[in-house]
Amino acid sequence: MYPAKFDYYQATSVDEVLSLLQQHGEDAKILAGGHSLIPMMKLRLASPAVLVDIGQVADLRGFSTVADGSLRIGAMTTYHEIADANTGLDALTEVCSIMGDLQVRNRGTIGGNLSHNDPAADLPAVALALDAQLEIRGPSGERLAPMEEFIVGLMETALAPGDLVVAVRFPPSGPASGSAYEKFENPASGYAICGVAAWVRRDGTGRIESCRVALTGAADYAQRLRPVEEAMMGQQAGSEGIDAAAAKAGEGLQFLSDIHADDVYRAHLTHVLTRRVLQKAIERAQ
Ligand SMILES: Cc1cc2nc3c(=O)[nH]c(=O)nc-3n(C[C@H](O)[C@H](O)[C@H](O)COP(=O)(O)OP(=O)(O)OC[C@H]3O[C@@H](n4cnc5c(N)ncnc54)[C@H](O)[C@@H]3O)c2cc1C
Repeated sequence: MYPAKFDYYQATSVDEVLSLLQQHGEDAKILAGGHSLIPMMKLRLASPAVLVDIGQVADLRGFSTVADGSLRIGAMTTYHEIADANTGLDALTEVCSIMGDLQVRNRGTIGGNLSHNDPAADLPAVALALDAQLEIRGPSGERLAPMEEFIVGLMETALAPGDLVVAVRFPPSGPASGSAYEKFENPASGYAICGVAAWVRRDGTGRIESCRVALTGAADYAQRLRPVEEAMMGQQAGSEGIDAAAAKAGEGLQFLSDIHADDVYRAHLTHVLTRRVLQKAIERAQ
């Protein structure tokens, strides 16, 4: 359980991170909280020759508001810091309060979690439901990637070699909107066997006029549940239509089957958690 030998660099600015990544090319990996990368290195599933530690880059931490009103969270901000901040985004507070254990929440970072894109990670579903965008800097300059484009496949993202996630932006939730996250967790690790995040907005009559729902843990990668979102349009709180919409959660999905849960069980969890999370988000959308 020892990693292969590697060189270690501790960067103190974003420019230094980018220049080290450029210098060492595909041999280099970014080290954030280390709670996914280090276990992988110990298991020799990853053997980078160079680690670029971004933990001392002050510009990658903390909260601010950008011109369009979006909340900007630095990539190195930990789950604990996010759970403690008053972000006004219930699903984000909720997910950052329950991931892993205390150590994981004190070390794990929003940028690391989304960049790693583990199929059982919680944050990708919440970032999808809250319509997050990733601020990325790399050899080709600076760009904003909507979360849905950022996730490419199983542990695959739109990050190119030399890219650094600098921050994650969440648009303002707006009035009469609410969000929530529900998961059935692996009791050993806390990872999601199935997790569903939802964001809804109600119109003046209380009907749903906008909705985003996203799943994690149950399929190859986190993804939006569009059939559910479409079926939610115009629904009232407490209506039978919400259960009917949740029943569409499995449409078009290939559920995972592994030692933790088979595909039939994950399909069942997806339906139940989708219904629960929608009800919770609607109750919060006052
Ligand atoms: C016991 C245990 C329980 C856990 N339980 C959960 C859980 O319940 N839910 C959950 O979601 N996760 C869980 N995790 C995973 C944990 O949340 C990790 O912290 C997270 O997956 C990765 O974040 P990190 O900051 O530790 O990144 P690291 O491990 O440092 O990096 C992960 C990967 O992302 C890359 N990377 C990191 N930061 C950036 C960046 N800014 N830009 C570009 N690339 C970057 C790294 O190069 C690496 O490839 C658990 C981990 C452990 C050890």
